[in-house]
Amino acid sequence: MPKKVDFLVVGSGIAGLTFATKACKYGEVVILTKKRKADTNTNYAQGGIAGVFGDNDSFECHIEDTLNTGEGLCHRDAVEIMVKNGPTLVRELYDMGCRFSTKSNGKFELGKEGGHSRRRIVHAKDFTGWEIERVLLEEAKRYGVVISENEIVLDLIINEGECVGIYYFDADTQKIDIFFANAIILATGGAGQVYLHTTNPPIATGDGIAMAYRAGAKIANMEFVQFHPTAVYNIKIDGRSFLISEAVRGEGGVLKTVAGKSFMKKYSENGNLAPRDIVARACVSEMLKNHSKYVLLDISHRKADFIKNRFPTIYETCLRWGIDITREPIPVVPAAHYLCGGILVNTWAESSIPRLFALGECACTGVHGANRLASNSLLEALVFATRAAERIKRIKDSKIKKRITVTKAKAGPDFKLAIKELMNEHVGVVRNEDSLTRMQAVIESFSCQFDKGIHLINAESRNVTDVAEMIVKSALMRKESRGLHYIREHLKKNMRFLKDTVLEKGK
Ligand SMILES: Cc1cc2nc3c(=O)[nH]c(=O)nc-3n(C[C@H](O)[C@H](O)[C@H](O)COP(=O)(O)OP(=O)(O)OC[C@H]3O[C@@H](n4cnc5c(N)ncnc54)[C@H](O)[C@@H]3O)c2cc1C
Repeated sequence: MPKKVDFLVVGSGIAGLTFATKACKYGEVVILTKKRKADTNTNYAQGGIAGVFGDNDSFECHIEDTLNTGEGLCHRDAVEIMVKNGPTLVRELYDMGCRFSTKSNGKFELGKEGGHSRRRIVHAKDFTGWEIERVLLEEAKRYGVVISENEIVLDLIINEGECVGIYYFDADTQKIDIFFANAIILATGGAGQVYLHTTNPPIATGDGIAMAYRAGAKIANMEFVQFHPTAVYNIKIDGRSFLISEAVRGEGGVLKTVAGKSFMKKYSENGNLAPRDIVARACVSEMLKNHSKYVLLDISHRKADFIKNRFPTIYETCLRWGIDITREPIPVVPAAHYLCGGILVNTWAESSIPRLFALGECACTGVHGANRLASNSLLEALVFATRAAERIKRIKDSKIKKRITVTKAKAGPDFKLAIKELMNEHVGVVRNEDSLTRMQAVIESFSCQFDKGIHLINAESRNVTDVAEMIVKSALMRKESRGLHYIREHLKKNMRFLKDTVLEKGK
């Protein structure tokens, strides 16, 4: 029997939980989440959340840093909204019980990360995301928000041009069912799992973006995949590469070749704290030059007590693999980390399909442009989820005119691993048109093997295929190098491409 609710949220990370805890005063909210509640990217965020709190800082300065990193493609209005609303909402998280690190005078201890000209990263040591997730889950419980686990949302239901519900697969009962709602809020996170090497957990298969694309929503800037320069080489935990936070470089960590030579000054006057795209390309370049499989990140010159106290998770995790970061450098490589593109939304998180909202990493609000400034993503999710909850007040009851039925669950082909390997090899930090064109043909040959209109139990396979298709298509459309998109045939920026790359299925 199909259910109906006022607001249906897909995803229980910072974006979904923030929205749910704020919108529940305007109507009934249900969250569906595909694994356990805390299986989110949010849970793994280490560095922190950016906000203007420093005495020598200002909104203008944070806005400028964000715009500079975004290389001309940021939407200024969205950036201003994010930066100006940020501090109040970060303070609200602290007041809810987030144990952000503070100094003896009670002020936030602010970290420094690449691309930021001031110290402005609020953090809970190096487990900021875990702490935020914990507090928001408690808050959701306090407000009586229903969170249903092991529900894999498969597709959106569109009726007369509006999004009125979703199909989902209940992994416990193994059945497909329908959920109707007055508004559907996609907060499904990123798509790092489209690549073999990624810092993202297994849930990050771009589901929300893929289903919105199939439903006809506008999708923007998919070519801008951020590779984090410093994931630990050759070690994976539960399908994800372990990240060494940028904050390690913020506290003096130095990138070195395998022979122990520091190299970042050759690539940027900001050295080890250059924006991530520059650092990732520098690492790849040094690895190629030195025929090495990794570079080194060294913070061992800082006092052992400082390292253990500031980076307890990183210290302990590396130690478990036999790397004592207080005494030796860490072998690191770039890994897919963050997707700047996603479902195109306005500054109220509304997508191009009425009643469909998108929040957090699956959305493209325009704040990141061609490259994301470190620690701006938790902030983006927090700010725009809050705005969506305000907007949702106006939503009227949806009327469904046609009869909507459910098909039986069916398994489709599984191309996940093949796509991940190919994307890593051909659509990574440095791209070229030949490889991209060949990738496009391969993906098309995979895509056409999925039966149209059938709901799949292994939905992730189709979602990863669709997201890979969007990344490759967008990368081929942008005939210039800008921000995170670096292509050998077009090494310079070109004013013709000073705009978002927008995809719409079938157009
Ligand atoms: C290792 C790591 C470190 C990071 N560090 C930082 C940092 O220091 N600062 C910063 O600002 N950002 C950081 N980021 C990025 C940031 O964590 C994410 O961008 C942010 O947490 C995304 O939040 P979200 O709510 O949009 O998605 P998520 O937190 O990823 O939540 C997505 C939710 O959607 C659910 N879901 C997905 N698909 C479906 C489906 N089909 N059906 C049902 N549910 C579904 C998932 O199960 C999950 O609950 C980091 C990311 C990683 C991976």
